[in-house]
Amino acid sequence: MMRAAVMTEPGKIAIVEQEMPKIKDCEVLVKIEHVGLCGSDVHYYTDGRIGDFVVENPIILGHEAAGKVVEVGKDVTSLQKGDLVALEPGITCGKCEFCRTGRYNLCPDVEFLATPPYDGAFVEYIAYPEDMCIKLPEGMDTVEGALIEPLAVGFHAANQGSAAIGKSAAILGSGTIGLTTLMALLAQGIRDVYVTDLVDLRLAKAKEVGAKEVFNAKNCNVVEEIMKATNNEGVDIVIETAGAEITAQQCAELVKRGGTIVLVGMAADPVYRFDFGKLQAKEASITTVFRYRNIYPAAIKAVGEKLIDVKQIVSDVFGLSEVDKAVEHAINHAAETVKIVIDMNK
Ligand SMILES: [Zn+2]
Ligand SMILES: [Zn+2]
Repeated sequence: MMRAAVMTEPGKIAIVEQEMPKIKDCEVLVKIEHVGLCGSDVHYYTDGRIGDFVVENPIILGHEAAGKVVEVGKDVTSLQKGDLVALEPGITCGKCEFCRTGRYNLCPDVEFLATPPYDGAFVEYIAYPEDMCIKLPEGMDTVEGALIEPLAVGFHAANQGSAAIGKSAAILGSGTIGLTTLMALLAQGIRDVYVTDLVDLRLAKAKEVGAKEVFNAKNCNVVEEIMKATNNEGVDIVIETAGAEITAQQCAELVKRGGTIVLVGMAADPVYRFDFGKLQAKEASITTVFRYRNIYPAAIKAVGEKLIDVKQIVSDVFGLSEVDKAVEHAINHAAETVKIVIDMNK
């Protein structure tokens, strides 16, 4: 038997004993070591839904996971007992138009960890396909392995924005995804990155990670500040990670002529006022991000080679038996937390 943190209904998480999973020939058994707590986990806990994904049955949350291989299936060739791995959370069909063209994050039949009706990784052990377990290099630990998930979102955002050396960028929202996006941009040679948020702690973290300047939207007009800092030109890439109407609107103001807006944060409600005229007059484009694709190996390499210190975003660590406390902490102490990680051995 093993322990699992099951959300029996929104707002309630219980630790229950479950059968140990059995592996198929193409799978490995992973002892989960660390799992990042994501904003989506918190949303399922508070609201029981994210858009069209609705929690109807008890569900295990957690999709940012890494652990140790403790058993391998008959057909597994690339992994051995003892390997540390990061779990890429979406198991795709491999057959649809999107999978076949490499855009597997758009697969309509994906089974994504902790997205109803699929269970997630707040469990001691999980049976998982070999090809979705990416081995961590020597010297990399499972906290870093778990954080590859949000880092992959940051890399995908940078890619969608055609990040390249010499460009300038603004990141609206300095939560986990804002910070991992900042890390991805810096790793790709972008130095002029401006970050905005409402929480000082998160902005301080952005500064520590390497933002050129940070602005708290509570205390100043961030559009004016960024325009001032860029000679009134705006930035080549504006990345929206807050999922708020006001930040979506700011994108049209901040983008430079010919630049790109990348929408990463998902606004809970439709944004009704957006200045498309302003966008057109600059011939700027809008692109979006849904999860990520083909990025795990590169993101792991970047962390393994110390190009990125992804662990610096971790502000709090809780144990498996405290997942409910961790979620409550994220809700009640938002201004004092950046990233919460669950240590599954505690
Ligand atoms: Zn996540
Ligand atoms: Zn597919």
